[in-house]
Amino acid sequence: MIEPSELPSASAPADEGATRLARAREVTAAAGIDALLVSPGADLRYLTGYHALPLERLTCLALPAAGDPFLVVPALEEPAARASAAGGLGIEIVGWDETDDPYALVARRLPGGASGTSGTGGSGRVAVDNHMWAEKLLAFRGAMPGTEQVLAGDVLRELRMRKSPAETEALRRAGAAIDRVHRRMGEWLRPGRTEQEVSRDIADAIMEAGHVTVDFVIVGSGPNGASPHHEVGERIIRSGDPVVVDIGGTTPEGYCSDSTRTYAVGEPPEEFRELYAVLERAQAAQTDAVRPGITAEQLDAVGRDIITAAGYGPHFIHRTGHGIGLSTHEEPYIVAGSDLPLEPGMAFSIEPGIYLPDRFGARIEDIVTVTEQGGERLNLTHRELTVLPAD
Ligand code: ZN
Ligand code: ZN
Repeated sequence: MIEPSELPSASAPADEGATRLARAREVTAAAGIDALLVSPGADLRYLTGYHALPLERLTCLALPAAGDPFLVVPALEEPAARASAAGGLGIEIVGWDETDDPYALVARRLPGGASGTSGTGGSGRVAVDNHMWAEKLLAFRGAMPGTEQVLAGDVLRELRMRKSPAETEALRRAGAAIDRVHRRMGEWLRPGRTEQEVSRDIADAIMEAGHVTVDFVIVGSGPNGASPHHEVGERIIRSGDPVVVDIGGTTPEGYCSDSTRTYAVGEPPEEFRELYAVLERAQAAQTDAVRPGITAEQLDAVGRDIITAAGYGPHFIHRTGHGIGLSTHEEPYIVAGSDLPLEPGMAFSIEPGIYLPDRFGARIEDIVTVTEQGGERLNLTHRELTVLPAD
């Protein structure tokens, strides 16, 4: 258990809300888009601090490039919206009743060309958040005939992938929380227990460590470790098994944790030790290579070249990593083909893996943030192979 003093304050990054809205409006205008429409999810939480559940009734932030933002919410959720950080930002909150058409309501209130009902012929462009439900997107299309819809992700990524110091601090707290769970792995990972039993204990510990949700628990024992996103099952862990444990949750502030360590329960096969040594070298080289200016694909190659030179190239079957913040997977992706130069404030995983089908696999994953000088690891548990006692 953690001390209450270690619990994060629930509002630190949300204090930046006004700046984020202003920046979002700037990038929206610069992209030639008339308005952003953002439904519940990480984008809405990023922009307003409002953590609304995605449900069938429409909740939607409308942010015109020219004009004031407003938040349309079902009447029954108006009190919750007003009590949220969004209420504190001075955004106009517009409730709608069960028999109203909330899509027409948004269209009517949007200035100028975006509405399609304003007499301008609906020649505008609106950007909808990438995770808006299809039924809502199509309802907006019906309410704004002639208006073009594009993805808001291309606009918002410019903001969300560069973390403010407060966001980096929130990610550091998330990293410390998941580290506390990895440090306890010896309590649960033993021969004779199933992956499912171990994963239930891990899930409890993720909550105890200061998360409000358990987002995923991957326990891939023996041959199951060769499947990077293995679904835990009834397999009984045996002495000598390598076990890939990839776990993450969300903190009260909304920021995600994600860290993988590979353990051995008792002495693993010699070939596994050789494979692991290569992986450890690759992951260390990649985290050491993080600095402003290196591109995502260059960073991917740093680890892939080491793994390939050791003969395991075909067994590193995924990209090096993904950005992380209010979502577990977001921009920037550390992948071949991305010439995006990394910048201070970006945060992402470095998680190379080597997977030998039907035998075993290994992955080491840390969240890293780019600093002015280089990079900072946000996961600090040790990366050498941890051999847990088999009895
Ligand atoms: Zn992971
Ligand atoms: Zn990850």
